[in-house]
Amino acid sequence: MDVPMLNKEEGEIASKLLAEGFQEAKKQMKVPFSENFRKLLDYYNNLSGFEETNPNAIMHHFIDMYGPDCENCGKPYRTKTATFCPKCGNQRKL
Ligand SMILES: [Zn+2]
Repeated sequence: MDVPMLNKEEGEIASKLLAEGFQEAKKQMKVPFSENFRKLLDYYNNLSGFEETNPNAIMHHFIDMYGPDCENCGKPYRTKTATFCPKCGNQRKL
């Protein structure tokens, strides 16, 4: 399945909006639950063109999106299965 990925900057904004959503939920639990995360959902759906309604699913999109850190420069690989580092060109040993 082709899941729209967020880049690092977008991922940071998304995690901020996610945290705000949890704050909202603490203050006043809206029904349905996803309404607490309206800002995150709107942000993500705008970026991706998806109609995602589950804030947890979005969380997975950006938490799972990076691979481990590069052995050479310490920047994360673009994906879990990436074979080389986009920053320094290091060939990853799988
Ligand atoms: Zn690297």
